[in-house]
Amino acid sequence: MSLGNRNLDDDISGVLAAVALPDGQALGASGRVAGLAQSGGRVSLSIQISPDEAKIFAPLRDQVEEGLRALDGVTSAFVVLTAERAAPPKLVADKPAKTDPLASVTHVIAVASGKGGVGKSTTTVNLALALVALGLRVGILDADVYGPSLPTLLGLHGKPGMAEGRKLRPMQAYGLKAMSMGLLVEAETAMVWRGPMVMSAITQMMADVEWGALDVLLVDMPPGTGDAQLALAQGTRLAGAVIVSTPQDLSLIDVRRGIAMFRKVDVPILGVIENMSQFICPDCGSSHAIFGDGGARDEAARIGVPYLGAVPLTMALRAASDAGKPIVARNPDGPIGSIYKEIAQAVLDGLEIQATGRPPRKI
Ligand code: ADP
Repeated sequence: MSLGNRNLDDDISGVLAAVALPDGQALGASGRVAGLAQSGGRVSLSIQISPDEAKIFAPLRDQVEEGLRALDGVTSAFVVLTAERAAPPKLVADKPAKTDPLASVTHVIAVASGKGGVGKSTTTVNLALALVALGLRVGILDADVYGPSLPTLLGLHGKPGMAEGRKLRPMQAYGLKAMSMGLLVEAETAMVWRGPMVMSAITQMMADVEWGALDVLLVDMPPGTGDAQLALAQGTRLAGAVIVSTPQDLSLIDVRRGIAMFRKVDVPILGVIENMSQFICPDCGSSHAIFGDGGARDEAARIGVPYLGAVPLTMALRAASDAGKPIVARNPDGPIGSIYKEIAQAVLDGLEIQATGRPPRKI
């Protein structure tokens, strides 16, 4: 028998009251529960802990998730542990080598941008598909928890299933494995999360997802250079970072800040992808360099990072993204598909350069 939504809050409170902390106190009465949100059958919350309590609280977190999932009217439950008082960058930096949650992934690459709206997610998806077209096993982790667009871009519906060992099974689309916060919580929920909670959620998406063997995992980073971004850059075994920028933004301080952040934590910059470089007229097919020609390439050289290539601004690209069938999946050998494949090859070359120590190729 299904309870009405009216009673769901009571049921959730019941679950939280039934979970006892090590000191015997009920979790619900402990003041440690924060960010409780439920809508459309999805429940999420965080349990506040101090850093040294992480081990003890992990089974409690599982217990809460299981209790919530068992409730009538709950379709998914997502509980994170957050250590608010500890500095997140340090916290994560102490851990990665010991239990690398992405041990079966050969190269983890961050895709970042100085600010939102420059086409970072669009680029991530099409770059991933281009890598698939080059014969690689590829996954995307949408860590842009504030604006997760991967479900839309790949036309993903439904919820990720459970695999062995309480792990989530990544979604599959166009030969890619994909996971996004947008598949786990309601869109509005993560918007109000603060840095540590964001970081904790991303860490769980890495560790609690059964990625399997991958050649490349692209991490679609949250835009900007705040604590969560720094923690992610520092706490993940990143083989390199790719920066996405529009031509007019490349000269701005945001991009330099992003590059400086990765350099600070010794993550090599594989290069810059210039997005929306030229406007391709949908009527006549002619190309217009609205922001001037060649500036981004020069600017990349000035900043001292490789230039990976330019993607034009086209209606077809945007329409394909909105329809959930990215342009490279639609037409991998078309003009735009070929551009992304060249960029993908340049990224692979960059990885090779990092691995072999040969000087960067001529750009
Ligand atoms: P970000 O991840 O940086 O916030 P998105 O990838 O969501 O940016 O892109 C923002 C908007 O711009 C989307 O509507 C997307 O379809 C569109 N867009 C991105 N790149 C291009 C492009 N090269 N040509 C046309 N539209 C693009």
